[in-house]
Amino acid sequence: MPAPANAREVSTHCPYCALQCAMTLQITEAPEPGITVEGARFPTNRGRLCRKGSTAAELLGSRTDRLRTPLIKQTDDDGARSFREASWEEALDLIAERLRSIQSAHGRDAVGVFGSGSLTNEKTYALGKFARVALGTSQIDYNGRFCMSSAAKASTEVFGLDRGLPFPLTDLDAACTVLLLGSNVADTMPPFVQHLEGARTKGGLIVVDPRSSTTAQLTADGAGFHVAPTPGGDLVLLLALANVLFEEGYTDQDYLAQRVRGADDFRRSAAAWWPERAQAATGVGADQIRFIARRLGSAAVEARRGGDPVFILTGRGVEQHRDGTDTARAAISLALILGLPGAHGGYGTLTGQGNGQGGREMGQKSDQLPGLRSITSPTDRAHIAGVWGVAPEAIPGPGIPATQLLHTMGTQTEHGPAGVRALLVHGSNVAVSAPDTSRVLRNLRALDLLVVADFFLSETAAEADVVLPVLQWAEEDGTMTSLEGRLLRRRRAVDPPPGCRSELWIFAELARRLGTPTGFSTDPAEVFEEIRRATASAPADYSAMSWELLDAGHAGYWPHPATEVQGVRVPAAAIPAGAPAPREGLAGELTSTGEPIVGTPRMFGERFAHPDGRAVLRAIRPRAQAAPRADELTFTTGRLMEHYQSGNQTRRVPALDAVHPKVTVQVHPATARQFGLVENGFAVVENAQGALTAKVVFDAGIRADTIFSPFHFAGRSAANLLTRGLTDPDSKMPEFKSTPVRIRPATSL
Ligand code: SF4
Repeated sequence: MPAPANAREVSTHCPYCALQCAMTLQITEAPEPGITVEGARFPTNRGRLCRKGSTAAELLGSRTDRLRTPLIKQTDDDGARSFREASWEEALDLIAERLRSIQSAHGRDAVGVFGSGSLTNEKTYALGKFARVALGTSQIDYNGRFCMSSAAKASTEVFGLDRGLPFPLTDLDAACTVLLLGSNVADTMPPFVQHLEGARTKGGLIVVDPRSSTTAQLTADGAGFHVAPTPGGDLVLLLALANVLFEEGYTDQDYLAQRVRGADDFRRSAAAWWPERAQAATGVGADQIRFIARRLGSAAVEARRGGDPVFILTGRGVEQHRDGTDTARAAISLALILGLPGAHGGYGTLTGQGNGQGGREMGQKSDQLPGLRSITSPTDRAHIAGVWGVAPEAIPGPGIPATQLLHTMGTQTEHGPAGVRALLVHGSNVAVSAPDTSRVLRNLRALDLLVVADFFLSETAAEADVVLPVLQWAEEDGTMTSLEGRLLRRRRAVDPPPGCRSELWIFAELARRLGTPTGFSTDPAEVFEEIRRATASAPADYSAMSWELLDAGHAGYWPHPATEVQGVRVPAAAIPAGAPAPREGLAGELTSTGEPIVGTPRMFGERFAHPDGRAVLRAIRPRAQAAPRADELTFTTGRLMEHYQSGNQTRRVPALDAVHPKVTVQVHPATARQFGLVENGFAVVENAQGALTAKVVFDAGIRADTIFSPFHFAGRSAANLLTRGLTDPDSKMPEFKSTPVRIRPATSL
């Protein structure tokens, strides 16, 4: 429906996923207040929005269930607990007093902070600074640990730097072949599919997924190929593909000699996985492995001769495993042996959360400081200490990663507390999204203090001692960084409900009460200026970025180093020897929608980010994994088109909820017969962790040894009731995608 002529227009970006589709909000005050959303011209979405984006404005304003005042938990004479409304003064005074008391009894690390990849860069940055400066705790991590950590770890080790896509998304348009592993983009970020059209028309879209997902179905009719390994079989599949490429001479020997170290080590480890051996471990036939390897290899050979580029992309389906880092490493290694990155295509990981990229750069990760700096590097600590106005030794060391933080919080040993006693949660619904949610809920309830900042009473907020109502995406200004490493402006379009506050204000107020009276600005533009200084000469360098550049229509990709930030000259020697050089010759280069480009849209053209400029390969040896027992199936999880993350937002949008209101379990008809399940009936899925009750959906496109449920639902419908606390040893990514379970019929949900 067209907006009235008196509508006010605001350009911004979607609040949900990392594609960060551009949208125009048309706001009318009279005769009826209203907001319409339209997709805008932008390289990633080209005017399109998915169902989530087009309904995003329905959550703005003073809906009946929007939190509009702080809430404090009270206990009545019968022991029943309920919330009462409180003023901001009372809520913040109470939090500060409890934090002081807990830290004085148990030490500074008794307080933990849990952040999010959905917060703006400014809030993420301020959260990390608040934890380390105002609270003095090392115990901070965030939900990106569950999302991006294994691909980030692998990229950092192999390339020397972690940027999800080290090239603009629009580079995919020209591809002849795209190998897409573990990502159902057609449901999770539908406008992305436009960028797969080039590969589809050339018959070169190869989708690896245990389900015939909506994306896998895009390979039909000659558009490509669908490969369906067992969940967790991806690592061996990648090694087997590499084995064939080495054996049959598809690798780029010149590229390996000049730009890569360790190729022989990788080759020797891949040699252990010839297709016939890999068949049993992957569930993919040896002939199909050879066929896909040859298709990929010949496409890469053509690309080297001047043909169209080849890309390898991974998503959470192959990364959220207890060998997720090795799997991402193997995918990057495959791209390198074919000579793709920086030359004839490349490797990228498709970040999921809206600010999944910026969220992991700004210092809320337990082992990082802003700019992707290392918290253990004396040089990095000194730089950040200078920006924060503290002594380097005042910055705590590394904390523990998210799963360990959540699985130990509130617990005791005979020697005292085993984990944090208080937790502040911002932008995350861990009671639904963390592995083994029963344990997480138990631990949340055992804390001495739980504070949750949210705009709705999420399942985690419902457990809190204090709930703080905060602002949503279109109610405040800020910046986000998309999956391409591109900085974006998020703009305030509407007034928030009067009782809500920005997290920046909350950090400043709490810091003042905790005795850190300065250093916490409530103005996002000022915080961004501080980010520029904090990231100067860091791997993720924003120092030459500015809101003015963005508002003037420039497309800014990091690293975009400045020689001078706010009058302070950044010495050339401070730029690490291995840092990628800013791309030269950008003058005149435009995005596909005509924006001038600044910064570094394409990386690794000349060198990788290790000091010698080479990428680093190494041997990859899969660890033995127990096969499911005869009465067990492999349970895997993922997303639906209509819902985002824990569903805290999208379950509240009637048009989205109506499409998929309840949790389902997708089962192959043959498996259903074996276990006595009926279509549209109900099933209990269970293991030692817990039990999930779900509606049964038949799907002949899923492997018969695998069942699938979406993870957007709460309570007895939470898929993470079944996932365990197993984590990847390198990244501490939890195992979300391969869990042994049993299934049996149930009479109702
Ligand atoms: Fe675009 Fe993702 Fe928003 Fe959908 S959810 S409109 S794909 S940014």
